[in-house]
Amino acid sequence: MCGVAPKLIITDEDQSMRRGIESIFPNTKHRLCMWHILMKLPEKVGPILRDNEDFKPRFMACVRGSETPDEFESRWSSIISEFGLEDNEWLKEKYGLRESWIPAYFMDFSLGGILRTTSRSESENAFFRHFTNRKLTLIEFWVRFETALEEQRQKELQEDNCALHTLPVLETCWGIEAHAREVYTHNIFVAFQREVVAARDRRHVKTIEQVGDVRTTSIGDLSLRIRTVRFNTNTKAAQCTCRMFESLGILCSHIIVVLKNDGCNEIPSQYVLHRWTKMAARHLCYDANGHELEGSSTSLSPIIKKLYSQTCSRFSLALHEAKHCEDKMEYLNKAVADALAHLSQTTPLDEQSEVQEFESFIGTTFPSIINIHPPDIANTKGSVKRLKRGSEEAINKRKKSK
Ligand SMILES: [Zn+2]
Repeated sequence: MCGVAPKLIITDEDQSMRRGIESIFPNTKHRLCMWHILMKLPEKVGPILRDNEDFKPRFMACVRGSETPDEFESRWSSIISEFGLEDNEWLKEKYGLRESWIPAYFMDFSLGGILRTTSRSESENAFFRHFTNRKLTLIEFWVRFETALEEQRQKELQEDNCALHTLPVLETCWGIEAHAREVYTHNIFVAFQREVVAARDRRHVKTIEQVGDVRTTSIGDLSLRIRTVRFNTNTKAAQCTCRMFESLGILCSHIIVVLKNDGCNEIPSQYVLHRWTKMAARHLCYDANGHELEGSSTSLSPIIKKLYSQTCSRFSLALHEAKHCEDKMEYLNKAVADALAHLSQTTPLDEQSEVQEFESFIGTTFPSIINIHPPDIANTKGSVKRLKRGSEEAINKRKKSK
């Protein structure tokens, strides 16, 4: 990790991992996977509550849906008393660990949506289990591991290509949705679009107060819960009590309502996380020693690859800068046309030969002189019994039987 400790590690309840993380990463937050804990719930509460139609939704709403520690604690205590769980030792223990697994206690910790479970690593485990098993030799394991990685890279390239060259259908005529479609990958756009549709159909403004640049808006929804958005009309900074942006990195429907009412047709740049954008995978990655990671198998030199990446990013930024102004767009169009004309007049460099292509692909050069030495021990003709074909064996058998 290049000397940088992770901000957060999510594990199941393994004591030795807990001790290891505490000693090696003293400043890293260690959370417990909610999925692993909830998986044990039916067994720990017994068959009567397991089949109770009211218990499970109430319990899930408490652990998953609480937005503040106070809300969680009040819901938890009413569930414990209403369902007679005061003596359940397992629930007592989990309550004691609540700050390690209940999201309400770490809603401000921005981790791009991996706050609750180890589902990403579990799905990776399942993926690699499909390709490998414990009986493989090291070489077999390595070959299969590489194949699995190659499949993932292929899938990623396909999705990347799809995100760059296709556009999802818009559900509203709101500018902010069209902007999201332009910048986000398809998966993130779908999540954002859900919030836009909710903002249009299921959110209503109850009160608005303005003090200086700060506008405070109360927003209601069908669940009768009131969310409060504090919005700075000057800097476009917004914060909602649901904390969705802080935990998932995507703006919630409440903030979208406020932005829409303020006339914003684009997502403010501070709320477009680079990791969710179509351009996130356009950059080359380097390790601590400056070596390129995950390079494509093209034969371009590292300098050209780097320039290629920079040019793509700059062109994308230039388009973004110019698209709302006709003069700027005309200037950019002419600049690109001039550059193209200049490039076509420049004498092209020699194309790479086929041999160079192969050498680049396998990562080594072909030797110009190949010396073939006689083997140290050579068997003379007839010193080894020749293996006979099946047909010869059959003929011999027939001859012997005659
Ligand atoms: Zn919200």
